Amino acid sequence: METLFIGGAWRAAASGETRTINCPANGSEVAVVSEAGEADARDAVAAAREAFDHGPWPSTSTPERAALVRRVADRLEANKEEVARLEALDTGKRLVEAMIDMDDVISVFRHFADIATSGAGRVVDTGNAHVSSRIVHEPVGVCSLITPWNFPLLQTSWKVAPALVTGNTFVLKPSELTPSTSVWLMKALAEEGLPDGVANLITGAGADVGPALTTDPRVDLVSFTGGLVTGKTIMRAGADTVKRVALELGGKNPNVIFADADLPAAIDNALTAIFLDSGQVCSAGARLVVEESIHDQVVDELVRRAEGIRLGGPFDPDAETGPLISEQHREKVERYVAEALEDGAVLRTGGRRPEGEEYENGYYYLPTILDDCTADMRAVHDESFGPVLTVETFSGSDADEAEDAAVKIANDTIYGLAGAVWTENSGRAERVAARLRHGTIWINDYHPYVAGAEWGGYKQSGNGRELGSAGLEEYLETKHVWHNTRPAKAGWFADRDAAGEEEGTQ
Ligand code: NDP
Repeated sequence: METLFIGGAWRAAASGETRTINCPANGSEVAVVSEAGEADARDAVAAAREAFDHGPWPSTSTPERAALVRRVADRLEANKEEVARLEALDTGKRLVEAMIDMDDVISVFRHFADIATSGAGRVVDTGNAHVSSRIVHEPVGVCSLITPWNFPLLQTSWKVAPALVTGNTFVLKPSELTPSTSVWLMKALAEEGLPDGVANLITGAGADVGPALTTDPRVDLVSFTGGLVTGKTIMRAGADTVKRVALELGGKNPNVIFADADLPAAIDNALTAIFLDSGQVCSAGARLVVEESIHDQVVDELVRRAEGIRLGGPFDPDAETGPLISEQHREKVERYVAEALEDGAVLRTGGRRPEGEEYENGYYYLPTILDDCTADMRAVHDESFGPVLTVETFSGSDADEAEDAAVKIANDTIYGLAGAVWTENSGRAERVAARLRHGTIWINDYHPYVAGAEWGGYKQSGNGRELGSAGLEEYLETKHVWHNTRPAKAGWFADRDAAGEEEGTQ
């Protein structure tokens, strides 16, 4: 299978190696892709460099670039179910969820097409009538776009759409586990008329192709979404050539429930916060931070509801969530749970694989709730990225003390991606939201986002922002152009002849 797209042509890996993609829900084979190596990655970077330095794309007008991006959105809309199926088979997630992801991808493409044409730089007053000073924006250059497996096409769209509308060229490297929708995207871009070499695709293992994509001097920008450890490696890799590095990393996101919250809504959303996509969401509300006076009521109800959650594969009409992405990942989640129990956490439900023939060949893990947790437990401060909810409790002798205690727990993490606060007291909601050190705060809600609002992390959840307008600016250089329409001598240095005499003094 030829799935490397380099300089406008499909090709196999130089080594001839391939990789089989299996559905995490039942192990069935769903695709065979080329397994790129370093030489392929270097070729892709060379193609992107050539297209940037000598191709038409960077100087194509912004409305034309935006129109192409809009056509890709239209094409996806027309083929939504077909693409969602590819995504569901690669990830094991339910088809209905993959369809929702496709809707999000469409709106991301349209958002960046819409805002791309709105900015034309700015003029700065120089105080001199004969001198103009203007700020213009230009594409950054060659971008390496590296994406994870949990929302493959969606995370890709957050990078590809702004990179394209601003005139960059790129090499896309999806997770080795979920390449299929990236292959679809490359075909769509080519068929919509994107010039050769602007978009390049490398399917392969991060460990093999990552170093070339993140150290090659011909790459100007690396935009990465994935785990913290890989993010640090990439930041170091970019340092030697001072690349722009944008990182969207993990989170250990607190979901804070005060006693005065709308409890039915808070409890129901606490389930979605953590068990959506079996917890494999960077903003998953994996830490429940609940006021002591309602602890039993909230946790008992969460346990009852969690035990009713139905697991199943992409096309199971009864399923409410799916499997984990791989056996290796499931084992990692199991280790976190085992360690939490050794550390004193109390297992309220789950903590094991489900029983039943239908689950045998998939990587399922039951929704799990661990009570009596504290911030020093690894399961609380590390990202397990699975369906595991840890419960921490706060209290105070008065309302202010309770707020302080909740905020302290919620901020006690190296991460800072997202968090939520549930209370019917709007003053408290705003006060707590202001004090939480996380990039997205939901008040009386969990998980929704819109393409027009920036997304990204504080602290070790990353740097830079995607979506919104900042997500476009990541892909733009800023140039200051000073134009003197009445040139004159600066007169700073005296004009001397060979004998050292100043001109005009003899
Ligand atoms: P990884 O960090 O393992 O991988 C992410 C991507 O990086 C993959 O394409 C991977 O390739 C690639 N990669 C691996 N090693 C290197 C390397 N040395 N150089 C360059 N690229 C490399 O994360 P996962 O795929 O396991 O995704 C899960 C993680 O992503 C979670 O921790 C989650 O929090 C985070 N995430 C964050 C989001 C956010 O918006 N902040 C959104 C989604 C996920 P390969 O697959 O071949 O190993």
